[in-house]
Amino acid sequence: MSGTCAQGHAAQRLFRFAAGPVPIEKCLRHALVHRPLVRNAVVTAAVVGTVLTGINQGNVLFDGRFPDQLWWKIPLTYCVPFCVSTWAALRISMVRA
Ligand SMILES: [Zn+2]
Repeated sequence: MSGTCAQGHAAQRLFRFAAGPVPIEKCLRHALVHRPLVRNAVVTAAVVGTVLTGINQGNVLFDGRFPDQLWWKIPLTYCVPFCVSTWAALRISMVRA
């Protein structure tokens, strides 16, 4: 559904967020930096990423080793829940025609 973003410009698709008594609608670009959405994604990534890192790499880390692959595996482990949380928030916030 196209319309006007809360920042004042036209948008093809809008996402609705609670903001006090009146909800606000934002375009994708502004929805992606909506503070509550980002905060929730960061918290989810911290919790889920830590648990997944413990499950997947705990034995290696507790052995006191840190193989080179972990430099990309651990950040990727945190990126997945961040992206899933962001995606889910956008899906449920999308304004439908
Ligand atoms: Zn916008």
